[in-house]
Amino acid sequence: MKVEIEPGSGFCFGVENAVRIAEEALRAGEEVYCLGEIVHNDIEVSRLKALGLVTITYDQFAQLRDRKVLVRAHGEPPSTYEMAENNNITLIDATCPIVHSIQEKIKKVKLVNSQEDGQIVIYGKQDHAEVRGLMGAAGEKGILVTGKHDIGKVDFTRPVWLFAQTTRSKDEYELVAEVIRLNLQKAAPDYPGNHLKVYKTICRQVSDREPRLRSFARENDVIIFVSGLKSSNGRMLFDVCRNENRRSHFISSTEEIDPGWFANAQSAGVCGATSTPKWLIQKVAEAIEAI
Ligand code: SF4
Repeated sequence: MKVEIEPGSGFCFGVENAVRIAEEALRAGEEVYCLGEIVHNDIEVSRLKALGLVTITYDQFAQLRDRKVLVRAHGEPPSTYEMAENNNITLIDATCPIVHSIQEKIKKVKLVNSQEDGQIVIYGKQDHAEVRGLMGAAGEKGILVTGKHDIGKVDFTRPVWLFAQTTRSKDEYELVAEVIRLNLQKAAPDYPGNHLKVYKTICRQVSDREPRLRSFARENDVIIFVSGLKSSNGRMLFDVCRNENRRSHFISSTEEIDPGWFANAQSAGVCGATSTPKWLIQKVAEAIEAI
């Protein structure tokens, strides 16, 4: 049986950057705290913990004074920066540059349109760290929509500026945008100030993986998808594989591999989420080869 790793697998550049920044600080002998898990992957979190990275909760952050705290790739709302300043915390900012630029765009939209009675709608996952940061940037103008089912939170008689969490599915984002557009037209067809502005904020590091994974899943008899359970793009990208190949299996570690999955298979493909380290993908491929 041939075992192949999807060539584009491994961390996206935002996560890679954050992990590199953390490793550099730790290597320099600094005591580094990370606000929330640096990546949605327990095995990678344990590896960095062994190097000295201390993961803290938001409650622990509020109690902390005079320390260095890493802001992970997901970014943080303005309130975190304010609290750090008040508590003499030095932030090591590893916010992904893409997320940072979306936060800045949201702040700008909010400022430029402060006279308009508009709404900044963020399409994303409830309580996701990146979404908290984007909602923080939107302030009182922000409305979180998690899918078509709660679209009713939007007032369709007022303008909408629409943004998405970077790791959402492109197709679902387009669907949400279309439903808002139709509702705006229905609610106030003749109101000229009524508009929808859709910002293309889905990250290409994720959206480009979708078509690649689709063909990869078709080309292999069995797919082993490696991801942490908490990874939001992990669930989404696994569904992409599963829709193409029913013999797709989601695992978080090599211990979960079932040799029975490979019965009569000529090929197995290994791939993962943007939060899955390449070293783990390689380890999984080696474990399958050993089987
Ligand atoms: S998925 Fe894209 S936006 Fe999100 S951290 Fe990775 S590179 Fe940055």
